[in-house]
Amino acid sequence: MTTSTLPLSAAQPCATDGIPLEWHRRCTSYAINVNGSSTLSMEQLRTVFATAFSQWTNITCAGESANIMVRQMDEFTTCAQAAYEARGTNIQAFALSHDWNPMYDPNAYAVTTVWHNTQTGEILDVDMEVNENRGPYTMCPDEGCTDGSVDLLNVITHEVGHYFGIGHTIIPSATMYRASPPGETGKRSLEVDDIAAYCGIYPPGALPDACEDAPHGGLSTDLSCGQQDPAGCCSVAPFGGYAHTKSALFLVGLTASIAVWRRRRVR
Ligand SMILES: [Zn+2]
Repeated sequence: MTTSTLPLSAAQPCATDGIPLEWHRRCTSYAINVNGSSTLSMEQLRTVFATAFSQWTNITCAGESANIMVRQMDEFTTCAQAAYEARGTNIQAFALSHDWNPMYDPNAYAVTTVWHNTQTGEILDVDMEVNENRGPYTMCPDEGCTDGSVDLLNVITHEVGHYFGIGHTIIPSATMYRASPPGETGKRSLEVDDIAAYCGIYPPGALPDACEDAPHGGLSTDLSCGQQDPAGCCSVAPFGGYAHTKSALFLVGLTASIAVWRRRRVR
């Protein structure tokens, strides 16, 4: 993903202009929405998100780790939407909801919003919304689900790629491919293309050693979506402009599903 504002397509899912989006800090944190999921327990949700992140942060690039740490907060957030306050406090909120934003594609399993500095590409805040209407979400057996249920870990491992600033790929077997059939579990594990993207953005030693995981502007103390600086204004952020980009993982129809499924099963 980059600061580009040009539209992307299935044929060209990867921006080739603009400045790449990336974290400039090694440590970050997020909170799960207090309402949890309609089908999974809070404990299961915690496991799914933690497992998805560990798939990425356990990557080694030429034998070395980028040493990136993402902490799941013990507290739950009341924030259920994508929000960023340039002059106030924030929280990185991950929420599952049946109340799907009408501006979003109803075929999306999830939408990840990456707020970033438009001049430097630095990622400032990431919020993740999961569409419960595309479920029901479950934890499928390794071989996948055949009853129409959706494997949440499959979806979240893909979305976490966006958390790190990685866009979509044209390689159907990769975790960062833009579409997924229901019940697929192949995106739980990362492929060569996914690892190359991560190592390209975060080569070991590229990020500062310091580990401060509070959100930009400080943590929203009431664990809501964040608060504007009461003394603040305005449309211009202190560091220049900021914007967000939204990325989704989409349901694919049956024919395409089977093709992708088979390709993944034979690996
Ligand atoms: Zn996506």
